[in-house]
Amino acid sequence: MPAWIPGSYMIRDFAKNIVTLVASSEGCDISVQKRDKQTWWCGSTAAELLVRYTVYAWDLSVRSAHLDTTHGYFNGTSLFLRVAGREDQACSVEILPPEGDAYNDWRIATTLPSSYARAPLSFGGFQADNYAELIDHPVEMGQFTYESFKVHGTTHEIAITGKHSADMARLCCDLKPICESHIDLFGELPAMERYLFQVMAVGDGYGGLEHSSSTSLICKRDDLPASGVTEVTEGYRQFLGLCSHEYFHLWNVKRIRPKVFQEADLSTEVYTQLLWLFEGVTSYYDDLALLRSGRVSVDSYLELLAQVITRVIRGNGRHKQSVAESSFDAWTKFYKQDENAPNAIVSYYSKGSLVALALDLMIRRESACRHSLDDVMRLLWERYGLTGAGIGEDEVGAHITAAVGIDCSAFLSLALHTTEDLPLDDLFRSVGLGFRLRAADNAQDTGGVKTEGDQDKRMLRVVGARYRSHTLGVELTQVFDDGAAQDAGLSAGDVILAVDGIRTTEKGFAKQVSSVEAMDAKVVYAFRRDELMTFDLYPQKPPLDTCDLWLDERSGSQQLINRSDWLHLNHPDA
Ligand code: ZN
Repeated sequence: MPAWIPGSYMIRDFAKNIVTLVASSEGCDISVQKRDKQTWWCGSTAAELLVRYTVYAWDLSVRSAHLDTTHGYFNGTSLFLRVAGREDQACSVEILPPEGDAYNDWRIATTLPSSYARAPLSFGGFQADNYAELIDHPVEMGQFTYESFKVHGTTHEIAITGKHSADMARLCCDLKPICESHIDLFGELPAMERYLFQVMAVGDGYGGLEHSSSTSLICKRDDLPASGVTEVTEGYRQFLGLCSHEYFHLWNVKRIRPKVFQEADLSTEVYTQLLWLFEGVTSYYDDLALLRSGRVSVDSYLELLAQVITRVIRGNGRHKQSVAESSFDAWTKFYKQDENAPNAIVSYYSKGSLVALALDLMIRRESACRHSLDDVMRLLWERYGLTGAGIGEDEVGAHITAAVGIDCSAFLSLALHTTEDLPLDDLFRSVGLGFRLRAADNAQDTGGVKTEGDQDKRMLRVVGARYRSHTLGVELTQVFDDGAAQDAGLSAGDVILAVDGIRTTEKGFAKQVSSVEAMDAKVVYAFRRDELMTFDLYPQKPPLDTCDLWLDERSGSQQLINRSDWLHLNHPDA
Protein backbone atom coordinates (compact mmCIF):
# COMPACT_ATOMS: atom_id res chain seq x y z
CA MET A 1 0.00 0.00 0.00
CA PRO A 2 1.43 3.43 -0.85
CA ALA A 3 2.63 5.61 2.03
CA TRP A 4 2.04 8.85 0.08
CA ILE A 5 0.03 10.16 -2.82
CA PRO A 6 1.76 11.86 -5.76
CA GLY A 7 1.32 15.64 -5.57
CA SER A 8 1.17 15.75 -1.77
CA TYR A 9 4.62 15.28 -0.28
CA MET A 10 3.96 13.78 3.12
CA ILE A 11 4.07 10.24 4.46
CA ARG A 12 0.44 9.44 5.23
CA ASP A 13 0.68 5.67 5.71
CA PHE A 14 -2.59 4.83 3.99
CA ALA A 15 -2.16 1.20 5.11
CA LYS A 16 -3.15 2.25 8.63
CA ASN A 17 -6.76 2.37 7.40
CA ILE A 18 -6.82 -1.27 6.36
CA VAL A 19 -8.93 -2.85 9.09
CA THR A 20 -9.05 -6.50 8.06
CA LEU A 21 -7.23 -8.47 5.37
CA VAL A 22 -7.57 -12.16 4.49
CA ALA A 23 -6.47 -14.24 1.54
CA SER A 24 -7.84 -17.40 -0.03
CA SER A 25 -7.46 -19.55 -3.09
CA GLU A 26 -10.08 -21.93 -4.49
CA GLY A 27 -12.06 -21.62 -1.27
CA CYS A 28 -9.12 -22.42 1.03
CA ASP A 29 -7.50 -19.92 3.37
CA ILE A 30 -4.02 -18.76 2.42
CA SER A 31 -1.63 -17.63 5.12
CA VAL A 32 -0.86 -13.90 5.28
CA GLN A 33 2.21 -12.45 6.97
CA LYS A 34 2.71 -8.75 7.52
CA ARG A 35 6.24 -7.76 6.48
CA ASP A 36 6.19 -4.07 7.39
CA LYS A 37 3.62 -1.31 7.99
CA GLN A 38 2.32 -1.52 4.42
CA THR A 39 3.34 -4.89 2.97
CA TRP A 40 1.64 -8.27 3.21
CA TRP A 41 3.09 -11.55 2.04
CA CYS A 42 0.67 -14.27 0.99
CA GLY A 43 1.43 -17.98 0.94
CA SER A 44 1.84 -19.51 -2.51
CA THR A 45 -0.87 -20.99 -4.66
CA ALA A 46 -0.90 -22.22 -8.23
CA ALA A 47 -4.47 -20.98 -8.65
CA GLU A 48 -6.03 -17.53 -8.44
CA LEU A 49 -5.32 -15.65 -5.23
CA LEU A 50 -8.20 -13.73 -3.68
CA VAL A 51 -7.37 -11.00 -1.14
CA ARG A 52 -10.29 -9.42 0.73
CA TYR A 53 -9.75 -6.33 2.81
CA THR A 54 -11.77 -3.55 4.37
CA VAL A 55 -10.67 0.08 4.44
CA TYR A 56 -11.76 2.74 6.90
CA ALA A 57 -12.57 5.87 4.85
CA TRP A 58 -13.15 8.97 6.93
CA ASP A 59 -10.79 11.67 5.68
CA LEU A 60 -12.71 14.40 3.85
CA SER A 61 -9.78 15.75 1.87
CA VAL A 62 -8.56 15.46 -1.70
CA ARG A 63 -5.69 13.14 -0.67
CA SER A 64 -7.43 10.16 0.81
CA ALA A 65 -10.85 8.51 0.96
CA HIS A 66 -14.22 9.34 2.54
CA LEU A 67 -17.44 7.37 2.62
CA ASP A 68 -20.76 8.18 4.24
CA THR A 69 -24.44 8.13 3.32
CA THR A 70 -24.10 11.33 1.26
CA HIS A 71 -21.21 10.33 -1.02
CA GLY A 72 -18.14 8.20 -1.51
CA TYR A 73 -14.78 9.54 -2.62
CA PHE A 74 -11.46 7.81 -2.98
CA ASN A 75 -7.98 8.02 -4.42
CA GLY A 76 -6.55 4.71 -5.57
CA THR A 77 -3.59 5.25 -3.23
CA SER A 78 -5.98 4.82 -0.29
CA LEU A 79 -7.76 1.76 -1.67
CA PHE A 80 -5.71 -0.30 -4.07
CA LEU A 81 -3.02 -2.70 -2.93
CA ARG A 82 -0.12 -2.91 -5.37
CA VAL A 83 0.85 -6.42 -6.39
CA ALA A 84 4.63 -6.38 -6.03
CA GLY A 85 6.35 -7.12 -9.30
CA ARG A 86 3.15 -6.77 -11.34
CA GLU A 87 2.95 -2.96 -11.42
CA ASP A 88 3.03 -2.94 -15.23
CA GLN A 89 0.07 -5.27 -15.69
CA ALA A 90 -3.37 -3.99 -16.65
CA CYS A 91 -5.92 -3.66 -13.82
CA SER A 92 -9.69 -3.86 -13.87
CA VAL A 93 -12.06 -2.54 -11.20
CA GLU A 94 -15.76 -3.14 -10.70
CA ILE A 95 -17.43 -0.34 -8.73
CA LEU A 96 -20.93 -1.14 -7.47
CA PRO A 97 -23.49 1.33 -6.13
CA PRO A 98 -24.55 0.95 -2.49
CA GLU A 99 -27.64 -1.19 -1.95
CA GLY A 100 -30.93 0.49 -1.02
CA ASP A 101 -33.47 2.85 -2.55
CA ALA A 102 -31.82 5.86 -0.94
CA TYR A 103 -28.89 5.44 -3.32
CA ASN A 104 -30.82 4.88 -6.55
CA ASP A 105 -29.80 8.25 -7.95
CA TRP A 106 -26.10 7.96 -7.14
CA ARG A 107 -23.80 8.48 -10.10
CA ILE A 108 -20.07 8.15 -10.47
CA ALA A 109 -17.62 10.80 -11.70
CA THR A 110 -14.10 9.70 -12.62
CA THR A 111 -11.77 9.74 -15.61
CA LEU A 112 -10.84 6.11 -14.98
CA PRO A 113 -11.65 4.56 -18.39
CA SER A 114 -14.74 2.34 -18.54
CA SER A 115 -14.03 -1.26 -19.49
CA TYR A 116 -17.22 -1.56 -21.54
CA ALA A 117 -19.69 0.79 -23.22
CA ARG A 118 -22.49 2.07 -20.97
CA ALA A 119 -24.28 5.27 -20.01
CA PRO A 120 -21.96 8.09 -18.87
CA LEU A 121 -21.57 8.50 -15.10
CA SER A 122 -22.88 4.98 -14.42
CA PHE A 123 -21.43 2.38 -12.07
CA GLY A 124 -19.71 -0.69 -13.46
CA GLY A 125 -16.34 -1.81 -14.76
CA PHE A 126 -13.26 0.37 -15.13
CA GLN A 127 -9.74 -0.36 -16.25
CA ALA A 128 -6.20 0.96 -16.17
CA ASP A 129 -3.12 0.04 -18.17
CA ASN A 130 -0.99 -0.31 -15.04
CA TYR A 131 -0.89 0.47 -11.33
CA ALA A 132 0.40 4.04 -11.78
CA GLU A 133 -2.61 4.84 -13.97
CA LEU A 134 -4.99 3.03 -11.61
CA ILE A 135 -4.13 5.41 -8.75
CA ASP A 136 -4.18 8.59 -10.86
CA HIS A 137 -7.99 8.82 -11.32
CA PRO A 138 -9.84 9.71 -8.12
CA VAL A 139 -13.47 8.58 -7.98
CA GLU A 140 -16.47 10.48 -6.65
CA MET A 141 -19.84 8.78 -6.11
CA GLY A 142 -23.15 10.21 -4.98
CA GLN A 143 -25.60 12.87 -6.07
CA PHE A 144 -23.76 15.67 -7.77
CA THR A 145 -24.43 18.55 -10.09
CA TYR A 146 -22.75 18.05 -13.42
CA GLU A 147 -22.01 20.14 -16.48
CA SER A 148 -19.65 19.85 -19.41
CA PHE A 149 -18.04 22.10 -22.00
CA LYS A 150 -15.57 21.70 -24.84
CA VAL A 151 -12.06 23.15 -24.88
CA HIS A 152 -10.09 22.65 -28.10
CA GLY A 153 -12.41 19.79 -29.01
CA THR A 154 -11.90 17.92 -25.72
CA THR A 155 -14.81 17.45 -23.32
CA HIS A 156 -14.23 19.13 -19.95
CA GLU A 157 -16.57 18.19 -17.12
CA ILE A 158 -17.35 19.62 -13.71
CA ALA A 159 -19.06 17.57 -11.00
CA ILE A 160 -19.84 19.15 -7.62
CA THR A 161 -20.90 17.14 -4.58
CA GLY A 162 -22.10 18.60 -1.30
CA LYS A 163 -24.91 21.06 -0.67
CA HIS A 164 -24.51 24.11 -2.87
CA SER A 165 -26.38 26.30 -5.35
CA ALA A 166 -23.60 27.22 -7.75
CA ASP A 167 -24.35 28.75 -11.13
CA MET A 168 -23.01 25.86 -13.24
CA ALA A 169 -23.35 27.74 -16.54
CA ARG A 170 -21.24 30.59 -15.23
CA LEU A 171 -18.61 28.20 -13.90
CA CYS A 172 -18.23 26.62 -17.35
CA CYS A 173 -18.18 30.06 -18.93
CA ASP A 174 -15.33 31.18 -16.63
CA LEU A 175 -13.31 27.95 -16.66
CA LYS A 176 -13.17 27.64 -20.45
CA PRO A 177 -11.09 30.80 -21.14
CA ILE A 178 -8.75 29.95 -18.22
CA CYS A 179 -8.10 26.51 -19.74
CA GLU A 180 -7.61 28.14 -23.15
CA SER A 181 -5.09 30.58 -21.71
CA HIS A 182 -2.89 27.69 -20.48
CA ILE A 183 -3.29 25.81 -23.77
CA ASP A 184 -2.25 28.97 -25.67
CA LEU A 185 0.88 29.17 -23.52
CA PHE A 186 1.99 25.57 -24.12
CA GLY A 187 0.68 25.44 -27.69
CA GLU A 188 -1.42 22.33 -27.19
CA LEU A 189 -3.53 20.36 -24.75
CA PRO A 190 -1.89 17.11 -23.60
CA ALA A 191 -3.46 14.07 -25.25
CA MET A 192 -6.38 12.85 -23.13
CA GLU A 193 -9.91 11.59 -23.64
CA ARG A 194 -11.56 14.08 -21.29
CA TYR A 195 -10.82 16.29 -18.30
CA LEU A 196 -12.77 16.42 -15.04
CA PHE A 197 -12.97 19.10 -12.33
CA GLN A 198 -14.16 17.03 -9.37
CA VAL A 199 -15.33 19.42 -6.64
CA MET A 200 -16.46 18.83 -3.05
CA ALA A 201 -18.36 21.86 -1.73
CA VAL A 202 -18.23 22.11 2.08
CA GLY A 203 -18.83 24.71 4.78
CA ASP A 204 -15.15 25.38 5.26
CA GLY A 205 -12.26 23.87 3.34
CA TYR A 206 -9.72 24.54 0.62
CA GLY A 207 -7.41 22.35 -1.39
CA GLY A 208 -6.71 20.67 -4.66
CA LEU A 209 -4.73 17.79 -6.06
CA GLU A 210 -3.61 17.38 -9.66
CA HIS A 211 -4.04 14.27 -11.76
CA SER A 212 -3.22 13.53 -15.37
CA SER A 213 -6.78 14.01 -16.66
CA SER A 214 -8.66 15.37 -13.67
CA THR A 215 -8.34 17.33 -10.48
CA SER A 216 -9.93 16.87 -7.07
CA LEU A 217 -10.88 20.12 -5.38
CA ILE A 218 -12.42 21.00 -2.05
CA CYS A 219 -13.84 24.48 -1.48
CA LYS A 220 -16.27 26.51 0.57
CA ARG A 221 -19.73 26.38 -0.96
CA ASP A 222 -19.87 30.16 -0.50
CA ASP A 223 -16.86 30.55 -2.82
CA LEU A 224 -18.86 29.13 -5.72
CA PRO A 225 -20.73 31.70 -7.82
CA ALA A 226 -24.38 32.18 -6.84
CA SER A 227 -27.01 32.37 -9.57
CA GLY A 228 -27.73 35.87 -10.78
CA VAL A 229 -24.51 37.34 -9.36
CA THR A 230 -21.98 38.60 -11.90
CA GLU A 231 -19.20 40.02 -9.73
CA VAL A 232 -16.06 38.00 -8.97
CA THR A 233 -15.99 37.80 -5.17
CA GLU A 234 -12.71 37.21 -3.36
CA GLY A 235 -13.82 33.64 -2.65
CA TYR A 236 -14.75 32.95 -6.27
CA ARG A 237 -11.46 34.47 -7.45
CA GLN A 238 -9.68 32.07 -5.13
CA PHE A 239 -11.70 29.12 -6.46
CA LEU A 240 -10.93 30.04 -10.08
CA GLY A 241 -7.25 30.44 -9.11
CA LEU A 242 -7.31 26.92 -7.64
CA CYS A 243 -8.87 25.45 -10.81
CA SER A 244 -6.32 27.36 -12.89
CA HIS A 245 -3.49 26.03 -10.71
CA GLU A 246 -4.49 22.38 -11.00
CA TYR A 247 -5.11 22.68 -14.74
CA PHE A 248 -1.60 24.12 -15.28
CA HIS A 249 -0.29 20.99 -13.54
CA LEU A 250 -1.61 18.99 -16.50
CA TRP A 251 1.62 20.06 -18.18
CA ASN A 252 3.82 21.12 -15.27
CA VAL A 253 4.39 18.14 -12.92
CA LYS A 254 2.02 15.58 -14.43
CA ARG A 255 3.98 15.47 -17.69
CA ILE A 256 7.02 17.74 -17.26
CA ARG A 257 8.29 15.82 -14.23
CA PRO A 258 11.40 15.63 -12.11
CA LYS A 259 13.46 12.57 -12.95
CA VAL A 260 13.04 11.30 -9.38
CA PHE A 261 9.22 11.28 -9.73
CA GLN A 262 9.32 8.84 -12.63
CA GLU A 263 8.26 5.50 -11.27
CA ALA A 264 8.55 7.07 -7.83
CA ASP A 265 8.76 4.74 -4.85
CA LEU A 266 5.48 5.42 -3.03
CA SER A 267 6.61 3.55 0.08
CA THR A 268 9.08 6.21 1.19
CA GLU A 269 10.03 9.87 0.73
CA VAL A 270 11.31 10.93 -2.71
CA TYR A 271 13.44 14.05 -2.58
CA THR A 272 13.69 16.87 -5.11
CA GLN A 273 14.86 20.49 -4.99
CA LEU A 274 12.62 21.32 -7.94
CA LEU A 275 9.24 21.95 -6.30
CA TRP A 276 9.82 25.69 -6.83
CA LEU A 277 9.53 24.88 -10.56
CA PHE A 278 6.51 22.63 -10.25
CA GLU A 279 4.55 24.44 -7.56
CA GLY A 280 6.11 27.94 -7.74
CA VAL A 281 5.88 28.38 -11.50
CA THR A 282 2.38 26.88 -11.42
CA SER A 283 1.40 29.33 -8.67
CA TYR A 284 2.74 32.20 -10.77
CA TYR A 285 0.73 31.27 -13.84
CA ASP A 286 -2.47 30.33 -11.99
CA ASP A 287 -3.33 33.92 -11.10
CA LEU A 288 -1.74 35.40 -14.23
CA ALA A 289 -4.12 33.27 -16.33
CA LEU A 290 -7.10 34.80 -14.48
CA LEU A 291 -6.00 38.18 -15.83
CA ARG A 292 -4.91 37.00 -19.27
CA SER A 293 -8.24 35.24 -19.75
CA GLY A 294 -10.15 38.35 -18.73
CA ARG A 295 -11.64 36.86 -15.54
CA VAL A 296 -10.16 39.52 -13.24
CA SER A 297 -9.08 43.14 -13.72
CA VAL A 298 -5.49 44.38 -13.69
CA ASP A 299 -6.02 45.89 -10.23
CA SER A 300 -7.40 42.60 -8.97
CA TYR A 301 -4.35 40.76 -10.33
CA LEU A 302 -1.95 43.28 -8.79
CA GLU A 303 -3.74 42.83 -5.49
CA LEU A 304 -3.18 39.06 -5.65
CA LEU A 305 0.49 39.60 -6.50
CA ALA A 306 0.98 42.13 -3.70
CA GLN A 307 -0.57 39.65 -1.27
CA VAL A 308 1.89 36.92 -2.27
CA ILE A 309 4.82 39.32 -1.82
CA THR A 310 3.44 40.35 1.57
CA ARG A 311 3.12 36.71 2.67
CA VAL A 312 6.72 35.99 1.72
CA ILE A 313 8.13 39.17 3.32
CA ARG A 314 6.28 38.49 6.57
CA GLY A 315 8.03 35.17 7.10
CA ASN A 316 11.36 35.33 8.91
CA GLY A 317 11.98 31.82 7.67
CA ARG A 318 12.94 33.24 4.29
CA HIS A 319 16.22 34.34 5.91
CA LYS A 320 16.94 30.78 7.06
CA GLN A 321 15.80 28.42 4.32
CA SER A 322 16.31 28.67 0.58
CA VAL A 323 13.49 27.72 -1.74
CA ALA A 324 15.48 24.67 -2.96
CA GLU A 325 15.89 23.52 0.66
CA SER A 326 12.18 24.14 1.28
CA SER A 327 11.42 21.83 -1.63
CA PHE A 328 13.82 19.12 -0.46
CA ASP A 329 12.51 19.18 3.08
CA ALA A 330 8.83 19.47 2.08
CA TRP A 331 8.15 16.07 3.70
CA THR A 332 9.13 17.10 7.19
CA LYS A 333 8.86 20.89 7.16
CA PHE A 334 6.42 22.46 4.68
CA TYR A 335 3.91 19.64 5.13
CA LYS A 336 4.42 19.41 8.90
CA GLN A 337 4.27 23.04 9.92
CA ASP A 338 4.19 23.84 13.60
CA GLU A 339 4.04 27.11 15.54
CA ASN A 340 7.64 27.90 14.58
CA ALA A 341 7.05 27.58 10.81
CA PRO A 342 7.13 31.34 10.05
CA ASN A 343 10.57 31.53 11.71
CA ALA A 344 12.02 28.44 10.08
CA ILE A 345 10.70 27.86 6.58
CA VAL A 346 9.85 29.61 3.33
CA SER A 347 7.10 28.36 1.04
CA TYR A 348 8.21 26.92 -2.29
CA TYR A 349 4.74 27.89 -3.51
CA SER A 350 4.80 31.60 -2.73
CA LYS A 351 8.53 32.30 -2.91
CA GLY A 352 8.69 29.91 -5.86
CA SER A 353 6.04 31.99 -7.63
CA LEU A 354 8.09 35.13 -7.00
CA VAL A 355 11.17 33.41 -8.46
CA ALA A 356 9.04 32.64 -11.55
CA LEU A 357 7.82 36.25 -11.68
CA ALA A 358 11.38 37.58 -11.38
CA LEU A 359 12.62 35.17 -14.06
CA ASP A 360 9.80 36.17 -16.39
CA LEU A 361 10.39 39.90 -15.95
CA MET A 362 14.16 39.48 -16.24
CA ILE A 363 13.88 37.50 -19.48
CA ARG A 364 11.49 40.12 -20.86
CA ARG A 365 13.86 42.96 -19.92
CA GLU A 366 17.05 41.28 -21.17
CA SER A 367 15.47 40.20 -24.45
CA ALA A 368 13.66 43.50 -25.08
CA CYS A 369 10.37 41.59 -24.87
CA ARG A 370 11.26 39.08 -27.55
CA HIS A 371 11.18 36.27 -25.01
CA SER A 372 9.54 35.36 -21.72
CA LEU A 373 9.16 32.52 -19.24
CA ASP A 374 6.40 31.23 -21.56
CA ASP A 375 9.16 30.22 -24.02
CA VAL A 376 10.97 28.30 -21.27
CA MET A 377 7.79 26.40 -20.36
CA ARG A 378 7.18 25.56 -24.03
CA LEU A 379 10.71 24.20 -24.34
CA LEU A 380 10.29 22.09 -21.19
CA TRP A 381 7.03 20.78 -22.63
CA GLU A 382 8.75 19.76 -25.86
CA ARG A 383 11.79 18.20 -24.19
CA TYR A 384 10.10 16.49 -21.25
CA GLY A 385 6.32 16.62 -21.51
CA LEU A 386 6.16 15.21 -25.01
CA THR A 387 9.00 12.73 -24.64
CA GLY A 388 8.22 11.42 -21.17
CA ALA A 389 11.83 12.03 -20.06
CA GLY A 390 12.32 13.30 -16.49
CA ILE A 391 14.05 16.59 -15.75
CA GLY A 392 17.31 16.38 -13.75
CA GLU A 393 17.84 18.41 -10.60
CA ASP A 394 20.38 20.78 -12.21
CA GLU A 395 19.07 21.05 -15.74
CA VAL A 396 16.74 24.04 -15.57
CA GLY A 397 19.37 26.76 -16.11
CA ALA A 398 20.61 25.22 -19.35
CA HIS A 399 17.06 25.00 -20.68
CA ILE A 400 16.42 28.66 -19.93
CA THR A 401 19.53 29.56 -21.93
CA ALA A 402 18.42 27.27 -24.74
CA ALA A 403 14.91 28.72 -24.80
CA VAL A 404 15.65 32.45 -24.57
CA GLY A 405 19.39 32.82 -25.15
CA ILE A 406 20.02 34.37 -21.74
CA ASP A 407 22.35 33.04 -19.07
CA CYS A 408 20.30 33.17 -15.85
CA SER A 409 22.65 30.98 -13.81
CA ALA A 410 23.77 33.77 -11.43
CA PHE A 411 20.15 34.75 -10.77
CA LEU A 412 19.07 31.12 -10.30
CA SER A 413 21.76 30.37 -7.77
CA LEU A 414 20.85 33.51 -5.81
CA ALA A 415 17.10 32.94 -6.05
CA LEU A 416 17.08 29.19 -5.41
CA HIS A 417 20.03 28.49 -3.17
CA THR A 418 20.43 31.59 -1.01
CA THR A 419 18.10 33.44 1.33
CA GLU A 420 18.67 36.83 -0.31
CA ASP A 421 15.52 38.77 -1.21
CA LEU A 422 14.68 38.92 -4.91
CA PRO A 423 15.36 42.19 -6.82
CA LEU A 424 11.66 42.85 -7.41
CA ASP A 425 11.82 46.66 -7.20
CA ASP A 426 13.97 47.00 -10.34
CA LEU A 427 12.04 44.37 -12.21
CA PHE A 428 8.67 45.97 -11.50
CA ARG A 429 10.03 49.29 -12.79
CA SER A 430 10.92 47.58 -16.06
CA VAL A 431 7.23 46.76 -16.62
CA GLY A 432 5.82 50.10 -15.49
CA LEU A 433 4.68 49.02 -12.04
CA GLY A 434 5.05 50.97 -8.83
CA PHE A 435 6.19 48.91 -5.80
CA ARG A 436 6.57 49.81 -2.16
CA LEU A 437 6.78 48.14 1.21
CA ARG A 438 5.03 49.82 4.11
CA ALA A 439 3.78 49.06 7.59
CA ALA A 440 0.44 47.25 7.83
CA ASP A 441 -2.65 49.38 8.45
CA ASN A 442 -4.15 46.77 10.76
CA ALA A 443 -4.06 43.06 11.51
CA GLN A 444 -6.30 42.33 8.50
CA ASP A 445 -4.08 44.23 6.02
CA THR A 446 -2.64 41.69 3.57
CA GLY A 447 -1.27 44.17 1.02
CA GLY A 448 -2.78 45.22 -2.27
CA VAL A 449 -3.13 47.98 -4.80
CA LYS A 450 -1.87 51.39 -3.75
CA THR A 451 -4.13 53.42 -1.51
CA GLU A 452 -3.40 56.87 -0.16
CA GLY A 453 -3.90 55.53 3.36
CA ASP A 454 -3.97 57.93 6.26
CA GLN A 455 -0.68 57.31 8.04
CA ASP A 456 -2.36 57.92 11.41
CA LYS A 457 -4.46 54.82 10.94
CA ARG A 458 -1.35 52.68 10.82
CA MET A 459 -0.61 50.47 13.78
CA LEU A 460 1.72 52.43 16.03
CA ARG A 461 3.38 49.46 17.72
CA VAL A 462 3.18 45.71 17.27
CA VAL A 463 3.93 42.63 19.37
CA GLY A 464 5.45 40.41 16.67
CA ALA A 465 3.05 37.51 17.11
CA ARG A 466 -0.08 35.97 15.67
CA TYR A 467 -2.91 35.31 18.08
CA ARG A 468 -6.49 34.16 18.24
CA SER A 469 -9.42 34.54 20.55
CA HIS A 470 -9.44 32.45 23.73
CA THR A 471 -12.12 32.16 26.40
CA LEU A 472 -9.73 33.87 28.84
CA GLY A 473 -8.38 36.51 26.43
CA VAL A 474 -6.05 35.86 23.51
CA GLU A 475 -3.83 32.89 22.77
CA LEU A 476 -0.51 33.43 21.00
CA THR A 477 -0.35 31.00 18.08
CA GLN A 478 2.99 32.07 16.57
CA VAL A 479 5.75 34.22 18.06
CA PHE A 480 8.12 35.78 15.55
CA ASP A 481 11.89 35.75 16.00
CA ASP A 482 13.23 39.05 17.41
CA GLY A 483 9.72 40.46 17.87
CA ALA A 484 8.50 42.20 21.01
CA ALA A 485 6.65 39.14 22.32
CA GLN A 486 9.72 36.92 21.97
CA ASP A 487 11.95 39.58 23.55
CA ALA A 488 9.55 39.74 26.50
CA GLY A 489 9.79 35.97 26.97
CA LEU A 490 6.32 35.13 25.68
CA SER A 491 5.86 31.88 23.75
CA ALA A 492 3.37 30.32 21.38
CA GLY A 493 0.56 28.81 23.41
CA ASP A 494 0.64 31.49 26.10
CA VAL A 495 -2.82 32.83 26.95
CA ILE A 496 -2.81 36.55 27.65
CA LEU A 497 -5.45 37.64 30.16
CA ALA A 498 -4.72 41.32 30.69
CA VAL A 499 -2.52 44.20 29.58
CA ASP A 500 -1.65 46.86 32.19
CA GLY A 501 -4.29 45.47 34.51
CA ILE A 502 -7.09 45.64 31.93
CA ARG A 503 -8.69 42.45 30.63
CA THR A 504 -7.85 41.81 26.98
CA THR A 505 -9.86 40.42 24.08
CA GLU A 506 -8.99 39.52 20.49
CA LYS A 507 -10.56 42.78 19.35
CA GLY A 508 -8.93 44.98 21.95
CA PHE A 509 -5.43 43.48 22.14
CA ALA A 510 -3.89 45.26 19.12
CA LYS A 511 -5.18 48.60 20.38
CA GLN A 512 -3.94 47.98 23.91
CA VAL A 513 -0.40 47.28 22.77
CA SER A 514 -0.26 49.77 19.92
CA SER A 515 -1.20 52.75 22.05
CA VAL A 516 2.34 53.28 23.25
CA GLU A 517 3.77 56.56 22.10
CA ALA A 518 7.15 56.23 23.72
CA MET A 519 9.11 53.06 24.48
CA ASP A 520 7.07 52.27 27.57
CA ALA A 521 6.64 48.73 28.77
CA LYS A 522 3.23 47.13 28.91
CA VAL A 523 2.70 44.67 31.72
CA VAL A 524 1.23 41.49 30.32
CA TYR A 525 -0.46 38.83 32.47
CA ALA A 526 -0.51 35.43 30.84
CA PHE A 527 -0.98 31.76 31.57
CA ARG A 528 1.72 29.37 30.39
CA ARG A 529 0.03 26.02 30.74
CA ASP A 530 -1.59 26.51 34.19
CA GLU A 531 1.00 28.92 35.62
CA LEU A 532 0.21 32.63 35.81
CA MET A 533 3.17 34.76 34.69
CA THR A 534 3.92 38.44 34.18
CA PHE A 535 5.93 39.89 31.31
CA ASP A 536 7.29 43.34 30.48
CA LEU A 537 6.40 43.85 26.84
CA TYR A 538 8.00 46.60 24.77
CA PRO A 539 5.88 46.83 21.61
CA GLN A 540 7.99 47.58 18.54
CA LYS A 541 7.58 49.78 15.50
CA PRO A 542 5.75 47.82 12.84
CA PRO A 543 8.01 46.34 10.14
CA LEU A 544 7.69 47.46 6.52
CA ASP A 545 6.25 44.10 5.51
CA THR A 546 3.18 45.00 3.49
CA CYS A 547 3.37 45.35 -0.29
CA ASP A 548 1.53 47.77 -2.54
CA LEU A 549 1.65 47.59 -6.33
CA TRP A 550 0.19 50.00 -8.86
CA LEU A 551 0.29 50.91 -12.53
CA ASP A 552 2.91 53.66 -12.67
CA GLU A 553 1.78 55.94 -15.46
CA ARG A 554 4.96 58.00 -15.26
CA SER A 555 6.83 55.04 -16.74
CA GLY A 556 8.59 55.35 -20.10
CA SER A 557 7.00 54.10 -23.28
CA GLN A 558 9.18 50.97 -23.39
CA GLN A 559 8.08 50.06 -19.86
CA LEU A 560 4.44 50.51 -20.87
CA ILE A 561 4.96 48.27 -23.89
CA ASN A 562 6.64 45.67 -21.67
CA ARG A 563 3.69 45.84 -19.30
CA SER A 564 1.07 45.27 -22.00
CA ASP A 565 3.07 42.45 -23.42
CA TRP A 566 3.45 40.78 -20.04
CA LEU A 567 -0.15 41.17 -18.88
CA HIS A 568 -1.64 40.68 -22.36
CA LEU A 569 -3.24 44.13 -22.26
CA ASN A 570 -4.46 45.45 -25.55
CA HIS A 571 -3.21 48.98 -25.12
CA PRO A 572 0.01 50.20 -23.54
CA ASP A 573 -1.96 52.49 -21.26
CA ALA A 574 -4.80 50.09 -20.46
ZN1 ZN B 1 0.13 22.56 -7.10
